Amino acid sequence: MSKASPHFLKLHQELIFPVVEEKARALSENSLQAKPLLNFGVGDVAFPIRGAIKKALLEAVEDVCTTRRGYGPSTGHPFLKKAIVDVEYGKYGIKAQEVFISDGIMSDITSLLELFHKDSKIALPNPTYPVYLDSCVLSGRTSFPKKGLYPEITQLPCTLETGFVPKPPRKKCDIVFLCTPNNPTGCSLTKDDLSKWVAYAKKHNSVLIVDAAYEAFIHGKDTPKSIYEIPGAKDVAIELRSFSKTSGFSGLRLSYSIIPDSLMVKLDKEETPLNKIWKQRQAVTFNGPSYLIQKAGAAALSRKALEESKQDIDLYRKCGQILKDAIIAQGFECFGGENSPYLWWKCPEPLTSWEFFDYLLQKHHMISIPGSGFGSLGEGYVRLSSFTTEEDTKKALSRIKEMKF
Ligand SMILES: *Cc1c(COP(=O)(O)O)cnc(C)c1O
Repeated sequence: MSKASPHFLKLHQELIFPVVEEKARALSENSLQAKPLLNFGVGDVAFPIRGAIKKALLEAVEDVCTTRRGYGPSTGHPFLKKAIVDVEYGKYGIKAQEVFISDGIMSDITSLLELFHKDSKIALPNPTYPVYLDSCVLSGRTSFPKKGLYPEITQLPCTLETGFVPKPPRKKCDIVFLCTPNNPTGCSLTKDDLSKWVAYAKKHNSVLIVDAAYEAFIHGKDTPKSIYEIPGAKDVAIELRSFSKTSGFSGLRLSYSIIPDSLMVKLDKEETPLNKIWKQRQAVTFNGPSYLIQKAGAAALSRKALEESKQDIDLYRKCGQILKDAIIAQGFECFGGENSPYLWWKCPEPLTSWEFFDYLLQKHHMISIPGSGFGSLGEGYVRLSSFTTEEDTKKALSRIKEMKF
């Protein structure tokens, strides 16, 4: 019999989402009629594709039905790279050849790890988006977990004590994942925080992989929208952005990675630009995202579509702020939300993440996500998503007012 990869046995993290769904399904019809379910669990957009993006998507369908469009370039269509440079990255001096189009940050995380030597030391925030760790595990970079932690992976605590900011460790790590604004804590890194990481990476010749999936939620002067606002970052940082949360593309699949020309790695004894290796990797394993979706992506960067997306994002942020204010007024501790669609709600003592999740679900019919699903240091919190409607947000307020501990 063929042998499966043993690394699957090393996956530790709890499968949160299926359990959450199962528990929500188990609520009785009768009780739900009296109190409808409010879903603040999913980290996914709340509206269909519409407006300028819908128009471009329909035009692209017509286009491929009248003009033959075969395989596109494996690093993405030039029209989309140009739009990205014009609208988003030209201001940081990034050129089209440093932009690589992909079908999701999720796939790029796994693929990017292929570029680095198996001995590379990796550092990850805890808690954070679970995909970084799972990709490390499945690519054989870890042994079995001990008490939920992998000895090979350096933990960067994002807790109340660190102000939810991952701090550079004393030891040298070769690859550091950063997520800003971070999922699930909703907290973002300031210019000062990012400068420390760039200095760390310069000192140790490390590569920073910055997941900026929620960049569009950032506002305010002190929080950079890109790590390339920090001098020197182009020598050490890859930045990942996605159309998923920004433009409602989670089901369409479109993202991009910035790998600057000046980011060098050692290939055997030669210093080589990392983006040359990435180009090679993409050329042999990827044919680029669908032409239709890349057309829609270019349209998403038009002035009209950006204004429309901003309205959605402002609405998500407003819902988050309303929920957060109500939660704090009720005497709880709650973080995040300013630059992010996520609230990080501290469980009242002595409840664990799952116990508080159960309380919110059973008593108030509100779905949250237990913080322990995002890493061991997420225990003691639940994540609320503000990818929701104003209507559901209002319904939640009276329920929050009934919560007493
Ligand atoms: C949702 C999310 C993504 C998803 O990106 P895709 O481009 O849809 O694969 C990436 N990173 C974080 C932190 C996310 O929360």
